[in-house]
Amino acid sequence: MSQPKYKRILLKLSGEALSGADKKQVIDFDILQQFAKEVKTIVDAGVQVAVVIGGGNIFRGASVEKSGIDRVQGDHMGMLATVINSMAIQSSLEKFGMVTRLLSAIKMEQVAEPMIRRRAVRHLEKGRIVIFGAGTGNPYFTTDSAGALRAIEINADAVLKGTRVDGIYTADPEKDPNATRYEKISYDEALSKNLKIMDLTAFALCKENNLPIIVFDMNKPGNLLRLINGESVGTLVTNE
Ligand code: UDP
Repeated sequence: MSQPKYKRILLKLSGEALSGADKKQVIDFDILQQFAKEVKTIVDAGVQVAVVIGGGNIFRGASVEKSGIDRVQGDHMGMLATVINSMAIQSSLEKFGMVTRLLSAIKMEQVAEPMIRRRAVRHLEKGRIVIFGAGTGNPYFTTDSAGALRAIEINADAVLKGTRVDGIYTADPEKDPNATRYEKISYDEALSKNLKIMDLTAFALCKENNLPIIVFDMNKPGNLLRLINGESVGTLVTNE
């Protein structure tokens, strides 16, 4: 088998993706299984995989500020929500025979190991999937920032942002039928065109540390493996 193009990746999934297209459930277990099957294809190809999942299907700090929950409290609630999603994805990966470890940025020893970078890297070297829960552990950040930060910390080759659309478009493809997909784009061009790939903090971290971002459709079976094998799937954001 040919060598995968990316040997160590961080997969960023949104929490909202877990609730499915109709958003009827908090966690749609069919979607979880689908994600796990996709991840297995790249683990079997020898890729070291870390995962960060958001919490938007359960709780977002900023969106409850109006209702009287202060921002910091809300953000902590959001971070705990990511731990719930992380535990769900952990179970589903394990069900498919993968070995996983959940590391949390907020200490909760009964359910997760504390986030220790060297430990995370050691797990990856041993072929275990590392799930980073509780975001960065700090309010006023997002899980995109957590994804970028952890990817840099573990020296990942790229951060893979799984979305519902198959890359970055000149306009919103769900609204504009003439929108076309970028196969490749530079950080600077994405910034100047105000293409919202990640929030600015996350984006700046990637740019400053030369961490490639790949935006791709996680719902299309086989995409993740094709991407890992170097096929042009989604949009690649780099310095060039
Ligand atoms: N959050 C935070 N710090 C972090 C990561 C997340 O405070 O480092 C909180 C924040 O309130 C955020 C929520 O957790 O709204 C859920 O994460 P996010 O919105 O990134 O989830 P996603 O949109 O990917 O589902």
